[in-house]
Amino acid sequence: MAVRENSSPSCLYDAVVVGAGIQGSFTAYHLAKRGQKTLLLEQFPLPHTRGSSHGQSRIIRSAYPQDYYVAMMKRAYQLWAELEAEAGTPLQRPTPMLVLGRQQNPEFQSYWQTMQRLDIPHETFTPQALAQKYPEIRPHGGEMAVADLTAGVLYPDKALKAVQEQFRRSGGTVRDGEKVLAILPGSAVTITTNRGEYRAKRLVVTAGPWSSRLLDPLGVQLPLQPLRIHVYYWRAKDSGTRSHVEHLPCFLGINLNQDAHHIYGLPTDEYPGLVKICYHHGSPVEPDRPDQLDRASTVPDLQILQGFVRNYLPGLDPEPAVQEHCLYTNTPDEDFILDRHPRFNNIVIGAGFSGHGFKFAPVVGEILCQLSLGEEPPYNLAHFRISRFPASPKAAL
Ligand SMILES: Cc1cc2nc3c(=O)[nH]c(=O)nc-3n(C[C@H](O)[C@H](O)[C@H](O)COP(=O)(O)OP(=O)(O)OC[C@H]3O[C@@H](n4cnc5c(N)ncnc54)[C@H](O)[C@@H]3O)c2cc1C
Repeated sequence: MAVRENSSPSCLYDAVVVGAGIQGSFTAYHLAKRGQKTLLLEQFPLPHTRGSSHGQSRIIRSAYPQDYYVAMMKRAYQLWAELEAEAGTPLQRPTPMLVLGRQQNPEFQSYWQTMQRLDIPHETFTPQALAQKYPEIRPHGGEMAVADLTAGVLYPDKALKAVQEQFRRSGGTVRDGEKVLAILPGSAVTITTNRGEYRAKRLVVTAGPWSSRLLDPLGVQLPLQPLRIHVYYWRAKDSGTRSHVEHLPCFLGINLNQDAHHIYGLPTDEYPGLVKICYHHGSPVEPDRPDQLDRASTVPDLQILQGFVRNYLPGLDPEPAVQEHCLYTNTPDEDFILDRHPRFNNIVIGAGFSGHGFKFAPVVGEILCQLSLGEEPPYNLAHFRISRFPASPKAAL
């Protein structure tokens, strides 16, 4: 095994971050800005499309039913603006996001109440006002909407490039095409890759859908489920509806069609004239074999979305024009994992972003950086602790 130039004990790293998706890249960025000599390791050549952080669009919003996410988003917006200023390029564009639902629906109510209680700029639409303002949306079941006026569309590919560039400018090192094979805990952690070996005072694991592969041997079994998500793009049925469809804002449909999972949409950005509409749930999959779905547990997302399009957006052709895929890594409660390893204080874990983590990445990176430096982040992290899961048998170390 070759020993890399910077892996000798005299030249050990202050911090190594495993996984250069958006969460690992922001963690490395904050560590480097705090003066830590930091190495960011990525198994695939960058940029790549095999994890969760690629593409042209993600929704950013303040609207959440839970106060703890709203508090984190306040900081995330500040940090996104800082990165935009440093990079000298816009990484998002503002557009309202409609939360669509029935007035009596408890989840819809909690979005609405949180926006009122926490003074999130918003606008409320009755079904009639909604149909008037957005004629392409048919409130099929008498739905109303609350628009989050702080929302927008983030540009993931540009954001990832910008944060990695700023990390390098702060003195950080990125090594891509280098897969971490083993982690040996200790006061200095030893990290073995397919190319060599490194030592670090602290390690942060942000390996997305591959997290369990690295964490299981460290004796922490997390209930993480990688899911394959289909991303569908839809076109207007005809020239009569095209201009309306092209002016659709972002939206989040709450329990429409009596469905447990959300349906969300983004305006035309990636493919001219096409609207992105997805089902916020997918089918269990192995991250290295995303094309091999188990038929028995495949989610009928296309049928669900076609029903939604026919009922709520009748100006769209109910056959999607383009289909792509991406991976989520879900926890059972869909809250993130942001915590120190239960036994090894200098190993920090950021995982389980459950399909809604991109917008939080700047503040998630800051929190993971603070945890790894032994600091207590100024947020309520109870919902993100590993201890919320029932204890599972510990793997031998
Ligand atoms: C279709 C889709 C739509 C989404 N929409 C939204 C949205 O609108 N708003 C929002 O906020 N969020 C959204 N998300 C979620 C968001 O994109 C993810 O939460 C976020 O990208 C997760 O980032 P990550 O860094 O944890 O994971 P990843 O991007 O998967 O990064 C993990 C990285 O670790 C690397 N890695 C793994 N193992 C190793 C190893 N052994 N050695 C070295 N490197 C390793 C991987 O190659 C990968 O690059 C969406 C996700 C998808 C898929």
